[in-house]
Amino acid sequence: MPDRINVTKSFLPPRQEYEQMLARIWDSEWLTNNGPLLVELEQKLQQKLDLPYLAITGNGTIAIQLAIKALNLSGEIITTPFSYCATTTSILWENLKPVFVDINREDLNINADLVENVITEKTTAILATHVYGNPCNVEKLEAIGKKYGLKIIYDAAHAFGVEYKGRSLLAYGDVSTCSFHATKVFHTVEGGCVVCHDPELYGTIRLMRSFGHVQDEYFLPGVNGKNSEFHAAMGLVNLGHLDAIIAGRKQVFALYDEMLNWDRLHKPTEKASDLVYNYAYYPVVLPDVATTLQVLEALKQENIYPRRYFYPTLNTLKYVPVQYDCPVSEDISPRVISLPLYPDLDHAIVRKIARIINEHI
Ligand SMILES: *Cc1c(COP(=O)(O)O)cnc(C)c1O
Repeated sequence: MPDRINVTKSFLPPRQEYEQMLARIWDSEWLTNNGPLLVELEQKLQQKLDLPYLAITGNGTIAIQLAIKALNLSGEIITTPFSYCATTTSILWENLKPVFVDINREDLNINADLVENVITEKTTAILATHVYGNPCNVEKLEAIGKKYGLKIIYDAAHAFGVEYKGRSLLAYGDVSTCSFHATKVFHTVEGGCVVCHDPELYGTIRLMRSFGHVQDEYFLPGVNGKNSEFHAAMGLVNLGHLDAIIAGRKQVFALYDEMLNWDRLHKPTEKASDLVYNYAYYPVVLPDVATTLQVLEALKQENIYPRRYFYPTLNTLKYVPVQYDCPVSEDISPRVISLPLYPDLDHAIVRKIARIINEHI
């Protein structure tokens, strides 16, 4: 049996580099609570992405929750059914009502043309995901936000390293959130960030991230959304490898592009123009569900495990209180799979995966 191939493999830097960074923790004896490595990583990210109001968090989910809380949202939030469950659950966790708007078939992002239909007097925000790191229709969503006085939040968990129209994709919206989870293109093992463009909101986010606590006084109800020096150390080391990680991914990506039979498959990524992509995912939409299951089974026989990402469509989750029809998301979600993609994935295996898929479609 060949070694198991998963949809992704977390990047680990040369161990020595991490150990050198850890030595700084033993020197400072400062383990968490906005320590020197965390501050250094935060500043490096702010500079690299040209985003002065970026705050690192404990993970990408608490980043969404902080965004909702800091913007003081209430009532209904318009959102996408095609994302990771954290997007929907964060809305429910804050006792708000998710209102689902279907996706478009091209890039599987929220269909901005349908958003205005569901706006009510209770709507306070739109929370959309840049699925697979491909930008939503940010121009249209921003125009709707302005017209109706709605906040725009992007779950940009997939978008680190993506540039759209010359700016980091994290620069769009009133607030964008990112995940630095071990499975993402850039990671700090666990981690994430919140990005905004307003100093006052930034101050609120930073306070809420550490219990609302400043010195000996409590100013706000907060939460523990901080991250540690050990995580920051991983981030500082991994940042030095980011270009190589993306370059390696790009090669695997190009090989899939070349090998797969596009008469029978649809690729939902890289649709926008003026895009610098991060090659975060390689999703393919198969012709039908039966074929999808056959392909998954055939790959499993070879110990290869793509992921049905995202499945199920979030509007069908049992704990969502109000059901919405999202026919496109319901149609695509059961027949989209993300193929194995990481920088050191053997190109012979990529060819094998493509051959197996082509044989079954
Ligand atoms: C990974 C991910 C999250 C959650 O991030 P964590 O850092 O694991 O909390 C949220 N939304 C999307 C779309 C994701 O892919």
